[in-house]
Amino acid sequence: MHTSVTPVAPDLMAAAARFAHDVVAPQVARWESERRIARDAITAAAAIGLTGLEVPVAWGGLGLGFDLKVQLAELLGAADFGFTMSLINTHNVAAKLARNAPPDVARRYVPDLIAGRRLGCTALTEATAGSDFGAIRTLATRTAAGWRIDGAKAWITNAAEADVIVLYAQTEAGAGGRGIACFVVDAQRPGFAREPAFALSGQHSIGTGGFRLDGYLARDDEMLHPPGQAFKAALVSINGARTYIAAMCNGMVGEALRIALAYGKTRHSFGKPLAEHQGWRWRLAEASAELAGGRLLVAQAAALIDSGVDAQLAAAQAKWVCTRLAERQLPALAQAMGAEGLRETYPFGRHLAGARVASFVDGSSEMLLERIAALIR
Ligand SMILES: Cc1cc2nc3c(=O)[nH]c(=O)nc-3n(C[C@H](O)[C@H](O)[C@H](O)COP(=O)(O)OP(=O)(O)OC[C@H]3O[C@@H](n4cnc5c(N)ncnc54)[C@H](O)[C@@H]3O)c2cc1C
Repeated sequence: MHTSVTPVAPDLMAAAARFAHDVVAPQVARWESERRIARDAITAAAAIGLTGLEVPVAWGGLGLGFDLKVQLAELLGAADFGFTMSLINTHNVAAKLARNAPPDVARRYVPDLIAGRRLGCTALTEATAGSDFGAIRTLATRTAAGWRIDGAKAWITNAAEADVIVLYAQTEAGAGGRGIACFVVDAQRPGFAREPAFALSGQHSIGTGGFRLDGYLARDDEMLHPPGQAFKAALVSINGARTYIAAMCNGMVGEALRIALAYGKTRHSFGKPLAEHQGWRWRLAEASAELAGGRLLVAQAAALIDSGVDAQLAAAQAKWVCTRLAERQLPALAQAMGAEGLRETYPFGRHLAGARVASFVDGSSEMLLERIAALIR
């Protein structure tokens, strides 16, 4: 159950809206051209509490509920998907360590994470195992001093610079999900080697990359979930991730719709504004109707998560629908802008790249259909 402190919420939403407008929007094009994580903006986001949203007050966070996280994800996603991914992933590591790490371990990292001084990431995926999480090969071997970890992770948000990693590793080759354990890994320690950030077709503010662990030693108290529990813990937290990714997709479509609506009032063709051509405005009406449906699915999944009820189906449905909605409606809304929509000052192309990323992270669209199919049987 969450502990939303109602009076904080409107202030935080207003501060986040100002932050998105004043800090994110003017800089996104530069972050992309420089192909980097927006560390300065993450520090600025931390200053208004965004890195400590769900972190308990006792740990210096705001102790707020998931409903607010989802609203913020839509608001910030409207400004930039990549930045929001980077920010939320750091937040998630802070919240997880505050919740699951022994106090001495959490004390080492949580204050820096919520101050934006350190970046966090969560690493499941490997070059040879994405959808099939149970097939990961990074191996954690018991030693007298703790756990020796060897292997490599790939396609990880924030990996290009992350300081603190929540890492999933196999403890018994071939054991699948039941052998997987979860550790906190410190990028400053011996045995950790980062790979250069991945060069992609867009969305570089996500800081996508990978790293190798070669004889890395995790102490016993740095195991966050033992074998038998880590796989399940990952699946529980994935419902939240699916829901806020869906909200970010809605944010991108909402922003594209807002821009196209405004443009349709000022741009004329055949003697009248675009918005007065039925064929033109129906396109926007469709986007608006689908977006309203997507928002309801996100609200439903968020309500289930906040009340501690099983949200697997609702979260999978919300992410599948909202990702598809963004992949379809962002090009349609860009088309409504004519050539003007291609200008870099508009977010259509950038948002579409964000929607493509959304279709993979935290369960690809195909894996979501598998989950939905299994749950509706
Ligand atoms: C920008 C970015 C950021 C990411 N951030 C993180 C992160 O922070 N942490 C992390 O752990 N991972 C992260 N990922 C990885 C992401 O979770 C994986 O991309 C995703 O799990 C899919 O795995 P894959 O790309 O290896 O595709 P594969 O598993 O190789 O699948 C390839 C294609 O086949 C489909 N497919 C696979 N199996 C089946 C099946 N049984 N039935 C039907 N279709 C199937 C998939 O849906 C996909 O379309 C990130 C990815 C990207 C692109």
